[in-house]
Amino acid sequence: MQLKTILNRVQKYKSFVYGGVYWVEGASVPTVEVELHARRNSRPVCSVCGHRRSGYDRLTKRRFEFIPMWGIKVFFLYAPRRVDCPECGVRVERMPWAAGKHRLTESYAWFLAGWARRLSWQEVAVAFRTSWDHVFRSVEMAVSWGRAHQDLSGIEAIGVDEIQWQRGHKYLTLVYQIDADCRRLLWVGSSRKAKTLLRFFRWFGRERTQELRYICSDMWRPYLKVIAKKAGHALHILDRFHIMVHLSKAIDEVRAQEAKELKDKGYDPVLTKTRWLLLKRPENLTSNQETRLADLVQYNLRSIRGYLLKDEFQLFWSYISPYWAGQFLDKWCTKTMRSKIEPMKKVARRLRKHRPLLLNWFRAKGQFFSGIVEGFNNKAKLSTRKAYGFKTYYAAEIALHHALGALPVPKTTHIFF
Ligand SMILES: [Zn+2]
Repeated sequence: MQLKTILNRVQKYKSFVYGGVYWVEGASVPTVEVELHARRNSRPVCSVCGHRRSGYDRLTKRRFEFIPMWGIKVFFLYAPRRVDCPECGVRVERMPWAAGKHRLTESYAWFLAGWARRLSWQEVAVAFRTSWDHVFRSVEMAVSWGRAHQDLSGIEAIGVDEIQWQRGHKYLTLVYQIDADCRRLLWVGSSRKAKTLLRFFRWFGRERTQELRYICSDMWRPYLKVIAKKAGHALHILDRFHIMVHLSKAIDEVRAQEAKELKDKGYDPVLTKTRWLLLKRPENLTSNQETRLADLVQYNLRSIRGYLLKDEFQLFWSYISPYWAGQFLDKWCTKTMRSKIEPMKKVARRLRKHRPLLLNWFRAKGQFFSGIVEGFNNKAKLSTRKAYGFKTYYAAEIALHHALGALPVPKTTHIFF
């Protein structure tokens, strides 16, 4: 069987035929070139308007990289024709294997993009002896195709989240679809201002926004403002994950402050290395940690009292009726306000202020349990780290859509990986 025969099985192009296949002597890595010819009497297609036009002239041969096989690089060799288009002028013809001025064939770009969902971009570049930039361009192509072809109908529930990226206070706003049957990243915006989320709603469109029934978010004021303005009809839920993050942060602050005070006063460092004891969920503690925690609880420390308040707050989520959940919330807030632990009081004040939104959690009947947003949040952080080599916002955005967007891919006759 000839290579040409295999190519005709896995990657056939209408109006073009495969010609000679040559081993390239003296190349730094084993390389094969495959000639492509236009079918006799076929007229070239204008790359701008897509109409068949008469030929104008022929350019010199170009190489387009195809999917490697057996550790051998494969290139298509083709001399593109130019068309004389009455509408667009003299243009290069459209070649079905390559988009625009890309030197990678589309099949190869989809192949690299596919691997880039499983490995880091750097790993893909090394594995297939290509450049980081080629991997990036391939993922970019896959994302723009996928975003142009994705179905955005029937979205009823969305979650708004933010992640910190790079160093300092730089944030990205992420919007997910969190319906039971479809969970994916929909949109990414730089920063976390009101303007940022307004851009999402503009992209999403008024009609689709009208169909939204549930929106989950954090207590971040710019988000609350925009959601109330743009989607006041939907049930707005402050989700469990974000609330618990606020409580954990408060405890961390109390612990750091108290540990410092104790150290300054020369006390036994009871609070050193207790950070994870206090932040972990009780059910995740090892037995050794449990013993240490039990020891710690004997001291009347602010950190411990804060910890116990947080632990008690977990009960809030187990309520079914919004009324009784509200009663619990009020009692918890009163108790916390009397605790004299400033960071905890701050959280209690915010919870009180957003009482109605908090109770919407129960009106939505816990349908959007925190696991969804939390899971996405973790994956998003991982993806931006994977794309770190590039350090631009754009690369992070592309990486996030690729990893979490559940984007469609075109149907092909052969799957290369
Ligand atoms: Zn044209």
